[in-house]
Amino acid sequence: MLNEHMLFLGRNRSEIRELFEYGKTLTAQGKQVCDLTLGNPSTPTPNWVSQVLSSTLENPSVHAYTSAQGSLRARRVIAKQLNERGTTCFSPDGVVITCGAAAALCGVIKTLVSSENTEIIALSPYFPEYKVFTEGAGAKFITVGFCGENFTPDIIALKSAVTKNTHAVIINSPNNPSGKVFIAEEITAISQVLFAKEKEFGHPIYLISDEPYREILFSENKLPFIPDFYKNTIICYSYSKSLSLPGERIGYIAIPDQICAFNDLYAGFLGSLRSYGYVCAPSIFQFMIENFKEVYADFSVYESNKNLLANGLIQLGFTVNDPQGAFYLMVKAPDGDSKGMSEKAKELGLLIVPADTFGAKGYLRLATCVSHGVARDSLLLFEKLAKIYGLI
Ligand code: PLP
Repeated sequence: MLNEHMLFLGRNRSEIRELFEYGKTLTAQGKQVCDLTLGNPSTPTPNWVSQVLSSTLENPSVHAYTSAQGSLRARRVIAKQLNERGTTCFSPDGVVITCGAAAALCGVIKTLVSSENTEIIALSPYFPEYKVFTEGAGAKFITVGFCGENFTPDIIALKSAVTKNTHAVIINSPNNPSGKVFIAEEITAISQVLFAKEKEFGHPIYLISDEPYREILFSENKLPFIPDFYKNTIICYSYSKSLSLPGERIGYIAIPDQICAFNDLYAGFLGSLRSYGYVCAPSIFQFMIENFKEVYADFSVYESNKNLLANGLIQLGFTVNDPQGAFYLMVKAPDGDSKGMSEKAKELGLLIVPADTFGAKGYLRLATCVSHGVARDSLLLFEKLAKIYGLI
């Protein structure tokens, strides 16, 4: 009688959410926890956002429905920003404003699924909800591994994973969970595989660029603008992380003018978002986009937390990766059992997520978007963990 797949999803939270809810229960009981689970930014939203939002309170019309695809003024602002980032052309008619990146991804993926044989590929490590979104849209979720400790994409594996049923590849840079930033050579290599496969199979293979961490880059790292490398790129963006407002649900889909099947894609996005009931993203936040200022949340605490935790963990004998952006750090379970390490940490009041379901077996993900105090206290608990593993 009911949709068993949906029941399963509802009854089985992601490991991130499971640990996060557990942490909330402990906190409500007055117990101390160091929660490094959810990518919930700890830095305040920029002042200009608060000012724009307060000004909307005097304007009753701001609560009205907008066009289903979002207000034209907001879409103009987005297209202009994208046009300033590279040489590829975007117009407001290629932008749909969505309830965050999650809705953007769902709308895009559902549009690209033409039958149960459709395959959507994600490069590992990846945000586990991609699997939920893809399978929820009725397609097959395929993953491609990485090479080495730096999570370099495995181009040879990608080449053999793309089949005539592949309709899209999802890329996420800066990456959740690894903090990896794809360099121009890697984007070029991915694009070359997709160009060749498009030619071989005679249909477009879209590159879905999921970009919620676009602005969160450490040191001198630069983010290549993917549509300049591959015209069949679909951007999914979110303001959740860049403006520290993940609970407000605002983001967008954008396609360049030159993309294959522009009109059909755009109609498909509107149709699939409509079928999910995701029309007309929160209008107050569309108003915020209309009044956008290029001032983002202060990300400096993420980098200093990353440095504090990475250096501390190395000193304790753990192996960690070297993120170039976003706000996560990966640590390897000394015995390869990430679930076991998460359990041991949980007993100490330290909540860290096994990354096996992110396609990074044997690793755990640490969210570094916490306060400096939480990062510091976590290290004390990692010290206890290091003793349990006999590292010190
Ligand atoms: N994509 C990635 C890689 C994410 O990490 C997240 C959220 O953490 C999302 C998409 C969803 O973002 P939003 O909050 O805008 O729906």
